[in-house]
Amino acid sequence: MLYDLVVCPHRPTMDLRADPADRDPTHLFVELLWERGNAYEAKVIAGLTTPFVDLSAYKTDEKERRTAEAMDAGAPLIYAGRIRAADLLGVPDLLRREPCGYVPGDIKSGAAEEGPEDDSRPKPHYAVQLALYVDILERQGRLSERRGFVWDRHGKEVPYDLTAPQGKRGTLWQDYEKALALARGIAAGTTETRPAYAAPCKLCHWYSSCTARLKHEDDLTLLPELGREKRDALCGTFPTVKAFAAAETAPHIHKKKTAFPGIGPDTLKKLQARAKLRADGGRPYARAPLAVPRARARALLRRRDPPDARPLLPARLRRPGKPRRRDRAVRPVLRRRADAALYPSHPHPRTLTASPALRASRARGLSHCRP
Ligand code: SF4
Repeated sequence: MLYDLVVCPHRPTMDLRADPADRDPTHLFVELLWERGNAYEAKVIAGLTTPFVDLSAYKTDEKERRTAEAMDAGAPLIYAGRIRAADLLGVPDLLRREPCGYVPGDIKSGAAEEGPEDDSRPKPHYAVQLALYVDILERQGRLSERRGFVWDRHGKEVPYDLTAPQGKRGTLWQDYEKALALARGIAAGTTETRPAYAAPCKLCHWYSSCTARLKHEDDLTLLPELGREKRDALCGTFPTVKAFAAAETAPHIHKKKTAFPGIGPDTLKKLQARAKLRADGGRPYARAPLAVPRARARALLRRRDPPDARPLLPARLRRPGKPRRRDRAVRPVLRRRADAALYPSHPHPRTLTASPALRASRARGLSHCRP
């Protein structure tokens, strides 16, 4: 539950309270991720050379009883255990005996950290899971330090120090305490949550249900780059996209600030322009005069390379390998031609694929290179 809650606070509410008949089938990509995760975990466990207690064959209470017995007996490593204290229940992949007690760990088929290589940080959704196990083990008197570890897809063990400060955000343990309080409020029915359209929605089993509600309520999160936090800051003043589009924003702007936390004047104006665009039916408009050069040869360079694009390339550019290599190959060819135009990649490739300009030019028989 805590993992889901960090991804979207509304998902546990839906899981607990929504009609199961409204649930979408599990997304195929999610199934693929589960399969990949299980296969990776099995591979890691099969490759262990140290002795360990394997509890993967047991379920619920039997698993829990055997986990406690294995820890009482001082097993050096326990795989697939189950631990409980008060209203907390956890299923850590690993429990490893160390001088400070049993330290919990998870096996992940993804990277253990996120962000740039030189400034990578623990993933909050992994951290809350580990913190839950630590909390249970602490309450059981089996662990005296707030830390865990992740064995990730690179075969690395990444330590998770839950008490280390994470910039201005505080510690991972504080994140866990907030998530736990929210989870308890949701479970008790004392905390209400609202859906917010965001990246995880597309893979979520409540996608149809939530998007229907968001559209019905004309929710502000339907606007690009307007997420839950910004919506919560704005919705007291602008409850819907239509209201936002029709509103006067000037009274809410004071010099370089607005009345809405975390939203500057430029962002407020940009978001309102998007609200107007959506309220207007989404018709495109130019913000400045467009001077599109006429060209005999054109290329649309995209990061992603659909397999059906390769035959469109001239033979010498039909190279296997990464898109960036082909980008490098195409650019000098086009630059040498005075009558060529190069359209760099848009971050939303579907916009280009579907663009009327592209379809029209294809119909006129112009060649397109899409490395
Ligand atoms: S569809 Fe989106 S808002 Fe709804 S529960 Fe899933 S992730 Fe949350």
